[in-house]
Amino acid sequence: MIKKLLIANRGEIACRVISTAKKRGIKTVAVFSDADRNALHVAMADEAVYIGEAPAKDSYLRAEHIIDVAKTHGVDAIHPGYGFLSENAAFANACEANHIIFVGPPASAIEAMGSKSAAKHIMENAGVPLVPGYHGDDQSTAILKKAADDMGYPVLLKAAAGGGGKGMRQVWNEADFQNALDAAKRESLSSFGEDHMLVEKYLTKPRHVEIQVFCDKHGNGVYLFERDCSVQRRHQKIIEEAPAPGMTQAIRSQMGEAAIKAAKAIDYVGAGTVEFLLDEDGSFYFMEMNTRLQVEHPVTEMITGEDLVEWQLKVAQGETLPKTQDQLEIRGHAFEARIYAEDPYNDFLPVTGTLNTLSPPQSTELVRVDTGVLEGDEVSIYYDPMIAKLIVWGDDRELALQRLGQALEQYHIDGVTTNIDFLAYLTRFEPFQRAELTTTFVDKHIDALMASKPSYHQDDLPLMAMLVLLRNQAQNNAASAPWQSAIGWRSNLRYSAHIEFAIDDELLEAECTITDASAPLSPHWSIKIGEYSWLVEGQLVGNELHITVNDVLQKIRFAERKSEASERNSHYVIFTPRGTLAFEHVLPDLGDSNNVDSDASLTAPMNGTIVTHLCNQGDVVTKGTPILVMEAMKMEHTINAPSDGTVAEFYYQPGELVDGGATLLDFIADTENKRGES
Ligand code: ADP
Repeated sequence: MIKKLLIANRGEIACRVISTAKKRGIKTVAVFSDADRNALHVAMADEAVYIGEAPAKDSYLRAEHIIDVAKTHGVDAIHPGYGFLSENAAFANACEANHIIFVGPPASAIEAMGSKSAAKHIMENAGVPLVPGYHGDDQSTAILKKAADDMGYPVLLKAAAGGGGKGMRQVWNEADFQNALDAAKRESLSSFGEDHMLVEKYLTKPRHVEIQVFCDKHGNGVYLFERDCSVQRRHQKIIEEAPAPGMTQAIRSQMGEAAIKAAKAIDYVGAGTVEFLLDEDGSFYFMEMNTRLQVEHPVTEMITGEDLVEWQLKVAQGETLPKTQDQLEIRGHAFEARIYAEDPYNDFLPVTGTLNTLSPPQSTELVRVDTGVLEGDEVSIYYDPMIAKLIVWGDDRELALQRLGQALEQYHIDGVTTNIDFLAYLTRFEPFQRAELTTTFVDKHIDALMASKPSYHQDDLPLMAMLVLLRNQAQNNAASAPWQSAIGWRSNLRYSAHIEFAIDDELLEAECTITDASAPLSPHWSIKIGEYSWLVEGQLVGNELHITVNDVLQKIRFAERKSEASERNSHYVIFTPRGTLAFEHVLPDLGDSNNVDSDASLTAPMNGTIVTHLCNQGDVVTKGTPILVMEAMKMEHTINAPSDGTVAEFYYQPGELVDGGATLLDFIADTENKRGES
């Protein structure tokens, strides 16, 4: 019996494992780095042990140290979560050598699936269908290229050690092969310390469908059906669902049986996922097996009613599987949306910052929020930028999707940019509603999806004006007379105010007049902005604006953003059913202007390292020419010429670290040149 469990992980997965352990009366030990001293997983565990500095290699990846901690604290099992040490065969072995149960498969199974190319050999021998491709040991460029040429383009280059979409490049024609290979190898080397490559036929319209398998130590194996994870960006999942839309019973059982065959081929034990590409004609191909619990396991839990962490713990202590294949069935439909600190409108790049506002929707039986952060926490550069997983269940796909949209509308985060509005838009996007899923879904619809970028709607205008009026009223009420307040009161018109606010680059002016002052604490206002006008009444209740616009009552959550000390204007964000809207209350002009015209495209999108320059100083380039490559959070990002012009000077050399926002080079646009010459 497992009595005390150490969770060698952090964030939402550590919290997830701790909650099941608690349910089973198992004592828990959390580990934490400098960055996580006040983290939720630390607060939830019975004991918590400091294991080192913030970078994962100095804390969560210190296998030997974690084993020592487990021994000192009388732990009988370690759950590795996902990521970090979860697929580290040496760690699994070290646990065994120290008589600690590793809640995961045997080291030999991890090893067998550790390399995508070795895994393919095993699956080929076991008769599991593979994507056509080259997975040999000869890694000379000539051989790799010949494989691609023979197969015909497009092909996909994949790092054998890959994961998380890193070290992967599509190649559309022969001419692009060399550059793509160089980039994929570089990314693989920096992420995984090696650059062994696979070449695969690139399927243009597949779906990513994966099977959850479970095996025990007594030779039993079952599959807990499939998850469709086709909606991806950068080859990484953002929305997962179960069951896969349109799946036939025949394909489901063929895939399920192939997955069990794959697991049996490596004497698997515990929770595992066999990933397949499912082609339009119903054929499917093995991609890889993940020898751990997956991020998206909750959708399987929602449709089967099983607790997979509980299954893991039972199997780890030698019990037989809780259910047989016949006893498992699918109930309803579930979605998981991954809430990331990232900017969908800037190439989905991860962002960092402080979660100043963090208000998830209410958890119920049908809406589950798996998270590891609290309001005020930092999303740092050290770890994955996932903030939470929002999981919903419905009787069918349509109901579940509607519920997902609703729950996303109720998820309010400010302080870091997130993909929430993008995800909410996806739930309303017809091709997604019709389940026209392929792994290129996001790319294919990118233009339509980018239109989800929140911009204001006319219904938002009275909300913004009223918020500013009320905030100022609250701030100035006791202290000052109206004409000293921060909005432009007109001294001769006792009940009028002129407010200016800016959204993105647009300046809006509101004329506000009290029409009925008989209720002095909550007067009625007429608000006019351009051609629109509304009758409005409102109050601030905590962090909500309770507002009636033309007789319709709404409760709108808001936050005031912290401004720089030197900044006079106030910045607000409101969370409307249409999305998150940030705006600035512009104070009456005092004659200062701090408009700095920076060219964002030549600045580092975030903290990172310069990888290489792609042209020389002095080069004359055309718009869109790649100029340099930088790496941030283990992903490469290419900086392109914003217009025709000259690369005058690089401010950073390859290998140098740069801060997010730093200007990377001096670029003279052609128009500037001409202006200079004339
Ligand atoms: P990782 O381990 O880095 O996540 P995978 O091998 O699991 O990489 O692939 C990730 C995603 O890349 C898949 O879900 C799919 O969208 C895409 N992909 C992988 N192989 C192919 C292929 N041969 N053709 C088309 N898409 C592919």
